[in-house]
Amino acid sequence: MAEKQRYGLLIDYEYCTGCFTCQVACQQEYGWPAGMGGMRVNEIVQNLPKGKAYLTYFPFPTELCILCRPRTKKGLQPACVQHCMAECMRFGPVEELAKEMAQKPRMVLWAPK
Ligand code: SF4
Ligand code: SF4
Repeated sequence: MAEKQRYGLLIDYEYCTGCFTCQVACQQEYGWPAGMGGMRVNEIVQNLPKGKAYLTYFPFPTELCILCRPRTKKGLQPACVQHCMAECMRFGPVEELAKEMAQKPRMVLWAPK
């Protein structure tokens, strides 16, 4: 029997500005209360010598992410993907996303079961 096609999110965190729009978009789409949702934007601070710091933002899908199946079934993009102005995220079949990931560093591929 042919395996079911898996879908996922390709996250290019190099260009993430930490605007939290993806997190809010998911919360609003599914009515999650404050502090819960399918997407969490993490701020990672690494302190450097001379008082400087290296700051990275990393959008991370949680176990509550359902990959927006109600939207994608209708041909829509996931809410987080649609609302990210920096176009950091892409939705699609994991095989295609993995090929894209091979072309560029600082990307993460996320796919639920
Ligand atoms: S909407 Fe895009 S730029 Fe903003 S935090 Fe999410 S991934 Fe980063
Ligand atoms: S794909 Fe949908 S459910 Fe998953 S984090 Fe994005 S908006 Fe939330």
